[in-house]
Amino acid sequence: SGESRLDGESDASRVLRRVFGYASFREGQQEIIDHVVDGGDALVLMPTGGGKSLCYQIPALVRQGVGIVVSPLIALMQDQVDALTALGVRAGFLNSTQDFDERGHVESAFLAGELDLLYLAPERLRVDSTLRLLDRGKISLFAIDEAHCVAQWGHDFRPDYLALSALHERWPDVPRVALTATATPATHAEIASRLSLGQARHFVASFDRPNIQYRIESKNEPKRQLLRLIRTEHPGDAGIVYCLSRTSVEKTAEFLVENGIQALPYHAGLDARTRAENQGRFLREDGVVMVATIAFGMGIDKPDVRFVAHLDLPKSVEGYYQETGRAGRDGLPSTAWLAYGLQDVVQQRKMIDTSEGDDVHRRRLGAHLEAMLALCETVECRRVRLLDYFGQQGAPCGNCDTCLSPPESWDGTVAAQKVLSTVFRLMRERRQKFGVGQIVDILLGRRTPKVEQHGHDSLTVFGIGTELGEAEWRGVVRQLLAQGLLSVEGDYGTLLLTEASSEVLGRRREVLLRRQPQRRPQGETQREA
Ligand code: ADP
Ligand code: ZN
Repeated sequence: SGESRLDGESDASRVLRRVFGYASFREGQQEIIDHVVDGGDALVLMPTGGGKSLCYQIPALVRQGVGIVVSPLIALMQDQVDALTALGVRAGFLNSTQDFDERGHVESAFLAGELDLLYLAPERLRVDSTLRLLDRGKISLFAIDEAHCVAQWGHDFRPDYLALSALHERWPDVPRVALTATATPATHAEIASRLSLGQARHFVASFDRPNIQYRIESKNEPKRQLLRLIRTEHPGDAGIVYCLSRTSVEKTAEFLVENGIQALPYHAGLDARTRAENQGRFLREDGVVMVATIAFGMGIDKPDVRFVAHLDLPKSVEGYYQETGRAGRDGLPSTAWLAYGLQDVVQQRKMIDTSEGDDVHRRRLGAHLEAMLALCETVECRRVRLLDYFGQQGAPCGNCDTCLSPPESWDGTVAAQKVLSTVFRLMRERRQKFGVGQIVDILLGRRTPKVEQHGHDSLTVFGIGTELGEAEWRGVVRQLLAQGLLSVEGDYGTLLLTEASSEVLGRRREVLLRRQPQRRPQGETQREA
């Protein structure tokens, strides 16, 4: 508009102040907004609560035309649109929950240029009539929210997202901004390629959430452990407790209520009204503990969640990070607490083995689980490991369980050297790469058909590891992965040496391993829930 920049203030800053009522940008926001306002494509990686929404909302308000926001969060579209409307922003949405008239209404508003923002469910863009509708209006930008949903390698793949590559082909001149709160380097690369964001500028914020204290402990009596956590550290606080199954959600909520905690259940098996009611109470009232499956939480913006507890092992580090990220959005000290036991591993392996989908899919789930286990078993700072998973560096934080009380560990240098030299010999002498199974078979001296087929029984490392069992060797490998002394590649999970491996092989570095849960006496593991 004509008055822009007369007072030295950019259009974006003015919108920030006048429309949203904020005095200044948060870290990263201004750069992203300026870039998109100027018509550039952007790929934005920013943790939950970092302020991603403004990164497309403000450019949509500054640029000519309607900003199209693709979001999988259908249940939240109404709320998002209401919140924007309350600020005086002209917003609408199109998704499957609407009837013909409601849709027609939004479509006419779009065509008449009476909208600033239009939220679309991704499946709408597979429908030709939607594409033709968009052709007839003026589009200022495309925002692709929860962009990690396009990545098959990620933890939250949605096939509808694959159709979003069409946006670029059909509207090459419209800038696109893809946003996500979780992406490993692999997922990051996959987002860029699947959405044809090769030319996009990448904005990667720090994934560190310094106010969250990460803690992972072994599971004995999970419900009692949880109750102790709430009573001693978070009495009267709002929190989220994640459980894997609907039954355990119900039972845990009941247990907490019986013990005087204001807890409510939330899972997909409850009817829509109960779900909405419980969610509403959690958002509005103080000190409600929501016991939920992972169906709960995406897009929930409650700043004062003081703790997130996991009673079951999350299926991936991305999931864990996203779920724990719902704690402490206000920046105040918060707890991310997880109880995990051997049974979790057994259960998840079984779920993976019996899951639908092909081998590639199962291997992917397996790799996610391994990474999650590695985080659980690390003797290093949890935060350092977590950041490393997302390709970022950190220093020991002093605010996680392993920093605060370093775990019992054993000198695993020799065991590590055995694993690494096996991988080394396969690569060096045979130009071969194998996964953990074959490495362990070689170490244990097992003459399996695959060992004989490749003549691995003639390797000098064959049978050098009989002092440990299979589970222990797998534990060693998992921990080497966690420490970056090994890396894993491709859909087959083949093991590779890293730069750091040579320090261990050259005896210049010692390796500390955490005591394995499997090492406990039988009687103790039996008592696990
Ligand atoms: P994300 O989508 O990254 O999880 P949101 O966009 O929902 O984060 O923003 C998180 C919270 O921070 C919201 O309540 C939002 O209004 C607030 N917020 C975002 N940017 C700013 C800012 N520049 N100043 C103050 N508050 C902000
Ligand atoms: Zn730490």
